[in-house]
Amino acid sequence: MSRRFWLSWPIMISMYLGGAVLFVWGAHGIGQNARQAILDRDAEFTAREWGEHLLSSSAAFTDLIAGRPALPENQRLFDGRAMTGAIFRYKIFDDNGLLRHVASRGGWDEIHGVTLGTHSAEAAEVARNGMTRVAARHGDGKSRPSYFATAYMPLAREHGIVGVLEVYIDHTERARILDAVLLTAGASVSALTGLAFAVPGLLGLWQARKRQQTARRLRHVARHDELTGLFNRMAFVEKIDALIRARAEFAVHFIDLDRFKDVNDTHGHPVGDALLHEVARRLIAIAGDEASVARLGGDEFAILQELAAQDDRGPQRLARRVVAAMEVPFHLGDIEARIGASVGTSLHPRDGETRQRLLVAADLALYAAKRGGRGQAVGFEASIEEERRTRQSLENRLRFAVEHEDFELHYQPLYSTDGKTLRAFEALLRLKAADGTPIPPSVFIPVAEELRLIDSIGQWVLREACRTAVLWPSDISVAVNLSPLQFLSGNLSRTVQAVLEETGIDPRRLELEMTESVLLEKPDEILAQLTIIKSFGVSIALDDFGTGYSSLSYLWRFPFDTLKVDGSFMTGLADPESRSREVLDTIIALGRVLNLHITAEGVETTEQIEVLRELHCDYVQGFLLGRPVQATDVASVIIDGMRPASEAPEPRLSRRKRA
Ligand code: C2E
Ligand code: MG
Ligand code: MG
Repeated sequence: MSRRFWLSWPIMISMYLGGAVLFVWGAHGIGQNARQAILDRDAEFTAREWGEHLLSSSAAFTDLIAGRPALPENQRLFDGRAMTGAIFRYKIFDDNGLLRHVASRGGWDEIHGVTLGTHSAEAAEVARNGMTRVAARHGDGKSRPSYFATAYMPLAREHGIVGVLEVYIDHTERARILDAVLLTAGASVSALTGLAFAVPGLLGLWQARKRQQTARRLRHVARHDELTGLFNRMAFVEKIDALIRARAEFAVHFIDLDRFKDVNDTHGHPVGDALLHEVARRLIAIAGDEASVARLGGDEFAILQELAAQDDRGPQRLARRVVAAMEVPFHLGDIEARIGASVGTSLHPRDGETRQRLLVAADLALYAAKRGGRGQAVGFEASIEEERRTRQSLENRLRFAVEHEDFELHYQPLYSTDGKTLRAFEALLRLKAADGTPIPPSVFIPVAEELRLIDSIGQWVLREACRTAVLWPSDISVAVNLSPLQFLSGNLSRTVQAVLEETGIDPRRLELEMTESVLLEKPDEILAQLTIIKSFGVSIALDDFGTGYSSLSYLWRFPFDTLKVDGSFMTGLADPESRSREVLDTIIALGRVLNLHITAEGVETTEQIEVLRELHCDYVQGFLLGRPVQATDVASVIIDGMRPASEAPEPRLSRRKRA
């Protein structure tokens, strides 16, 4: 629409101007004709009146026409001074066209080359046909007025035409007045007509302009982010396509703000909006003219950076500057917001020749930046894609397993330190990849936590472990691992209660294992939940002790029953150089004071178990005593444990080595 408009408006204007010129020209012509007609009529009228006046002095006029000189008393009548109005000269011819009298007045009384008795063809013609004849004339302003008219008028008496009168009428003043009147009228009419044409024309132009502005505004809105004024995703994608077509070298930076959500949640949306605004401003300042900045949605931004040839380090520099700029605190009114950003970058054509591929590569790089911790800038590499693919299939596998309860629980025995008395089994979650290879819990549990699947997985584990353990001899307990996130979801105690009721297991046979990390987040809430859970009769173990903060305050503040010393202490136990023994000794002593049982994990050698015995550790767990086994194999481990001590090897080693 706009192109058509811009093509047509010069034509419109020229047409309009052409029309105006034609109109003025036409109006001028009409005005001139009208003016001439008025002057001619005036000349004819004046001549007629003068003729009638002359004829009224009949005797004197008869003499004059007959070529006789007028009597002295009558001469006054024909004298120039007798002339009235605009007449400045007149001539009288007889009916044959012979000049009989001439008179002038004013400044125009000098008459050259006029001789009485000369013949005038015009006068003779008028005398013959009796028709008045008027002609407009231009003078030199000296011997004749600048503008005047001559009128030949037949002079008639009752018996016919007796002569011809030629009257000279000075029209200079009249023409001037008429010109002025006509000019004013013409100008007014032109102005009115012009307005009549111009108003719709201008209105049309204004509307077209308005339409064009609206179209431009709509185009702007369609291509820009309303809040920040940056390009939006559509425009960004268009720009990428254009650069690809131009075979340009460029970088696509994806920018994701860290902690933006916190600012938005804490201070509200207006502050969040102001922050996004400020982020946009900083990004524009960093990107400069060489790049286009876009907001792709929420707290996701992007920069399209054109690269000069061989500028391999340009993209890295820009990405790092973005990270640095986002770390500088933002001052929004009274609020100081600290955020940060992760940046993922892909390069054209190195990382992809199509838009699709480049965006995927930048997205993968951003994903790697975020996984590597906040505030990082990462360039795309093929390994990221591989990692991402593995991760994706793990996520899919996890989702499938949750939906179809496609996990398994293996059970690892715990013995008293004499290695003879089977006390419990720890339920350990197992997941297999689609091809059957086992996926270690250390790999899939963090992913399940990130995907917020751990709650339902945890519930399944608890239920399944209790359902299995309820069939075991009543003196054998079951230990179930809990993820910190299960505590944070807030309904753990209800789940435990429900499972206890559902399975009918004696709560004293259930031990829940948790790690320290969870205590850091919301200690009061967790203490409240633990207190409820403990009130059911369930015991609580602190797992992997010695690897985290190992804070004393947790130990006496929280109602733990057992301390599971991490397997990493076992490796150094037989080594006289290592301080592991002393540390373990101290932990066990501490446990005694706090009335806690001590379990040692990861016991793999007889030397280790010897030391643990010497240190009076309560329970042991490890490959030396038994690997985790399937639920169906638990029975044989139990039977093994029930054999008289004399039959059992020392220490009792599991016959099954499957994990
Ligand atoms: P954890 O609770 O400390 O479990 C003990 C881990 O040590 C198990 O690894 C077990 O197989 C391994 N282990 C036992 N004895 C030995 C030994 O003598 N030497 C060595 N090197 N390792 C031994 P697994 O099954 O791979 O589990 C790893 C971790 O995954 C567990 O550590 C636990 O934190 C977590 N996990 C396992 N099952 C679950 C579950 O159902 N829920 C949650 N939230 N976490 C679980
Ligand atoms: Mg455990
Ligand atoms: Mg452990």
